Amino acid sequence: MGVAKAYILSAQIDEASFSETLVDLINANNYSVIAVPVSKFFKTAIAITAQKLSAPLIVDVIDLKQSGNVLEVTYNGIGNRAQVTVKVTDRAFLMAPPARFKPVEKATAISTETLQPKAIPSIKVVSTEEKPKGKVRIEDAELIVSVGRGFKKQDDLKLAFELAEVLGGAEIGCSRPIAADLKWLSEDHWVGLSGHKVRPKLYVAIGISGQPQHLAGMMESKTVVVINNDPNAPFFKNCDYGVVEDLYKFVPALTKRLKELLKK
Ligand SMILES: Cc1cc2nc3c(=O)[nH]c(=O)nc-3n(C[C@H](O)[C@H](O)[C@H](O)COP(=O)(O)OP(=O)(O)OC[C@H]3O[C@@H](n4cnc5c(N)ncnc54)[C@H](O)[C@@H]3O)c2cc1C
Repeated sequence: MGVAKAYILSAQIDEASFSETLVDLINANNYSVIAVPVSKFFKTAIAITAQKLSAPLIVDVIDLKQSGNVLEVTYNGIGNRAQVTVKVTDRAFLMAPPARFKPVEKATAISTETLQPKAIPSIKVVSTEEKPKGKVRIEDAELIVSVGRGFKKQDDLKLAFELAEVLGGAEIGCSRPIAADLKWLSEDHWVGLSGHKVRPKLYVAIGISGQPQHLAGMMESKTVVVINNDPNAPFFKNCDYGVVEDLYKFVPALTKRLKELLKK
């Protein structure tokens, strides 16, 4: 089964107007499963649409199986720590990472229809403000050195920055308290359930305890190194290499050694 029909919007619209247009389209055609790729636009537009139609929205979908009238939807749940499968028998909205599902063959005859978007006069943009553009795109980073509350003061973060530099320009990540409470780093660096999801080749966690909400953002990292002075820190159960040591001793020594090795 491929694409049978494509709707083309005659104009670019915002999330709220898109949602209004989509609600009409779904109601007119009685569409039951509405699937979209994750994007900034859809995160808002689909959430509004699902709410308007009182239908569930399942995010981070990784697999779908149809059996009769039942659609089995598997998604990364419980803070990314489990794959959950639910049976969908009624209308549902699904959101999946863009590259998760391979495109199927195109149908031979696609019909198209141009839609006039429904404008919503009740929503008025009062002002827009550009998000400050930092250099950090932590989601795309291949190497991340991440810092937690094990650091005693903001100035000490330079130990992590030095290590990141020696590693060839790793990005700096952090746990929630560092960005949200202490505000030592901007939210661009925040990794976790409520922060950014990362999947680098190397994730070095320094002075981070490894609570599930942090793990939820970095579990897909290829190699995880944990440096923590508490042997019972939960992070040690979720790493490839663990170093039980005071970060103030270990991190400068590691940086020094790597520098020496790279000089050779
Ligand atoms: C709804 C919700 C969403 C959340 N979302 C997120 C999220 O997205 N990301 C996130 O990170 N958290 C999130 N949290 C918070 C999370 O539960 C933890 O509180 C947080 O991750 C802890 O941060 P931490 O590990 O830096 O600090 P702590 O838990 O205080 O851990 C500090 C660690 O540093 C170690 N340490 C101390 N001194 C040293 C030293 N000298 N050398 C080496 N190690 C040392 C300690 O042994 C300890 O393990 C969320 C919580 C909730 C309730």
